[in-house]
Amino acid sequence: MSSLISTTVDFDKEGIQTGYLQLLHSVHRSAYGFIPIPIASLKNGEGPTVLLMAGNHGDEYEGQVILSTLIRTLSLNQVRGQLIVLPMANFPAAEAGLRTSPLDQGNLNRSFPGSETGTPTQQIAHYIENTLLERADFLFDLHSGGSSLFYKPTLLFSIKEGDPHLAVKREIEKAFSLPLTLYFERSDAGTFSSAAAFRKGVCSILTELAGGGAVSKGLPKLAGDGLMRSLLAIGAVTTAPAPAKTAGRTFTEEGSVFATEPGVFEPLADPGDDVKAGQPAALIHRVETPGREPVELFFEADGVILAKRQPARVVRGDCLFHIGQKEARS
Ligand SMILES: [Zn+2]
Repeated sequence: MSSLISTTVDFDKEGIQTGYLQLLHSVHRSAYGFIPIPIASLKNGEGPTVLLMAGNHGDEYEGQVILSTLIRTLSLNQVRGQLIVLPMANFPAAEAGLRTSPLDQGNLNRSFPGSETGTPTQQIAHYIENTLLERADFLFDLHSGGSSLFYKPTLLFSIKEGDPHLAVKREIEKAFSLPLTLYFERSDAGTFSSAAAFRKGVCSILTELAGGGAVSKGLPKLAGDGLMRSLLAIGAVTTAPAPAKTAGRTFTEEGSVFATEPGVFEPLADPGDDVKAGQPAALIHRVETPGREPVELFFEADGVILAKRQPARVVRGDCLFHIGQKEARS
């Protein structure tokens, strides 16, 4: 598929290469310039082709650290097949530390399948779907809570009816062994990277790793080790750190609590907490109206808190909690 994006990396070549996707960008300060999106290819003989991506949302840093570490430390003889590594997928957003691109306000994970001649974010989405996923067997898209949410480390699997990758997703769940795992149903018609993966017949794996606009202590190692074990499980690498000892919990439905009023959000539960239907979830304090009682919000179903909102100021419609529901018994 044609694209206005060119690359300094030859994806057909064996060996380790680092370079850039070059997205032409003509602006006042640079008439014939390009946006340099960092990329690496580690290719060693027969094996699966795996696209490893972070910085889909620019303010989600854990995956960026994990993938830049992987590029620096993985040796070629550990690889089977090919790893294509995109540590700052929406580079303008990642460089600015923002969820969306400052160039076009584009949210990359709402932009698939993108457009060859669209805005920078649309062009990146188009390239990922039609050039990189076109070659891939697996997609690992490493998200976190970003600036507005904080997650208990969670593995996410987007599945569809008759999902051909369900068995391998369960193997990856065991190998990754994050504290929480959520399976949710999606169609392949969407604008997420997982929908793009469905369209290309690629097995996709997503994470939500902490967040809060920062990198949490120990998190890059916890999730980086899990990523390596997952790559070992699918035959893409030959070695990985020992498995985690603690068993995770798995959920098959998701829920949310949204702010119903503007004000100051006081959470009454934390990520990782078990909650019951009818239990108080949050108070929204109406500080600007002296004497007014806070609004009390409640959980609607039993579950475990995957993530809570980080900033205290809220408006109606803000997501306060992301919840895993319907625990799967293993
Ligand atoms: Zn994200």
